[in-house]
Amino acid sequence: MLKESGQREVFCGLTSIVWLHRRMPDAFFLVVGSRTCAHLIQSAAGVMIFAEPRFGTAILGERDLAGLADANEELDRLVKDLLERRPEIRTLFLVGSCPSEVIKLDLAKAAERLNTQLLGRVRVLNYSGSGIETTFTQGEDNALLAMLPLLPSSDEEQLLIVGTLADAVEDRFRLIFERLGITTVRSLPPRRSTDLPPVGKGTRVLLAQPFLSATARALQHRGATLLSAPYPFGVEGSRDWMAAAANAFAVPAERFKAVLDPLVERGRRALEPHREVLAGKRLFLLPDSQMEIPLARFLSRECGMELVEVGTPYLDRQLMAADLALLPPATQLSEGQDVDLQLERVRAARPDLVLCGLGLANPLEAEGIATKWSIELVFSPIHGCDQAGELAELFARPLRRRAVLQLS
Ligand code: SF4
Repeated sequence: MLKESGQREVFCGLTSIVWLHRRMPDAFFLVVGSRTCAHLIQSAAGVMIFAEPRFGTAILGERDLAGLADANEELDRLVKDLLERRPEIRTLFLVGSCPSEVIKLDLAKAAERLNTQLLGRVRVLNYSGSGIETTFTQGEDNALLAMLPLLPSSDEEQLLIVGTLADAVEDRFRLIFERLGITTVRSLPPRRSTDLPPVGKGTRVLLAQPFLSATARALQHRGATLLSAPYPFGVEGSRDWMAAAANAFAVPAERFKAVLDPLVERGRRALEPHREVLAGKRLFLLPDSQMEIPLARFLSRECGMELVEVGTPYLDRQLMAADLALLPPATQLSEGQDVDLQLERVRAARPDLVLCGLGLANPLEAEGIATKWSIELVFSPIHGCDQAGELAELFARPLRRRAVLQLS
C-alpha cells in the first residue's frame, strides 16, 4: 500500500449537488460560496444558474467580503427571497464552501436561525462541500449525514439502501427484493426529501455507493446493522450484494437462485462483447471518486483487465473489505494523492487506459494515453446485473475509439 499526500486533482464536494438535486426534486441546495463555486456548479451541471434549477449560489459580494455588511443578514434575505419565489421547496441545504469569508460564517447556526424563522415550513440543513475538506463524492456523504438527525427511530425490520441510485435502477432492485420476499425496502436519500426512512435495531444497511463512510458509521450508532458485501458493480458484485441482503433476511437458497440466476446469465452475456476489448488491457486507476476499488475488482475479475495501480482518495477498510478480498493478491494500491508522482508512474507504466478526474484526462490524452472520466461513473446508471454490460462498455468505448482513430 502506497500512501501519498500532496497536490490533489479532485473536484470538491459541491459537485455531488448535481446528482443529489435530481434525486430529491423538492430539495434546494444553496451554495454559500464565491463565483468560482458558482462556475463549478454551473459547468458541472451543464445548466445556467439564472434559470433557477434546484440549486443556486449565494455569492457573497465585495461588500460582504470587506466585512461591511452582515453576511448573516444577507444570507437570511437571500433565503427569504428564494422561498417566496419557490414555495415548493421542502428542504433547504445550505452548502458551505472554502473561501475564507465563508468558512468564518457559522452555517449550522444560520440553519438553526432559519429553522426558527420558517417555523417548520421548510427544513433547513447545512453541510460542507468545501474543497479543503471533501472530494467530490464526499459531498453526498456529508449531505446524508446532515439528514440523519431528522430520521425517526424505529426497530421495524427493514432493508435500507444507502446512496443515490438512478430511479430506474432503484425500481429494478426493489422488484428483485420483492421477488426474494424482502418486503420493506427503503432508501436514503429518499425521492422526496421529507419522506425520511426510520432507523433502528431492525435496520439492515446495504450501501449502494462506496463513499459513504460517515453516514454508515452514524447509522450504526443509531442501531442499524451494516451488511458486508461487494458493491453492486458488475454481475458478481451485484449478485453478492443481493446475497448479503438475502442472507440477512433468511431468504431460502432455492428462491435466491431462481430469482438471480436468469439475471446473472443475462448480465454475463451482455459483458461478452466488451470483455473481448478489455481482456489483457492494462488499467491504471487514479484516486478520484472512491469507487476505484470495486471498479477495479469488476474490471479485473469479470473483464480480464490487468491492474497496474488502484488509487483511492481514502481507504475505509471496513467498507471496502469485501471488494479488497476479491482483488488479485499482488494488486498495487495507493491511498491519497500526490499528482506529480502519480503521473510519473502513469507515464512510466504506459497503461492502455487510465481512470481519472476531468482535470487529468486531457493532458494524458494529449500524451497518447486513453482515459475514462471517473465522474461519468457517478452520473451513469451502472449498478446491478442488468447494467454490467453498460458499465463494461463505458471502459471499452475509449479503447474502441482509439483503435478506430489509429486505423483511419
Ligand atoms: Fe472551488 Fe472551494 Fe468553491 Fe469548491 S468549494 S468550487 S474548491 S472555491
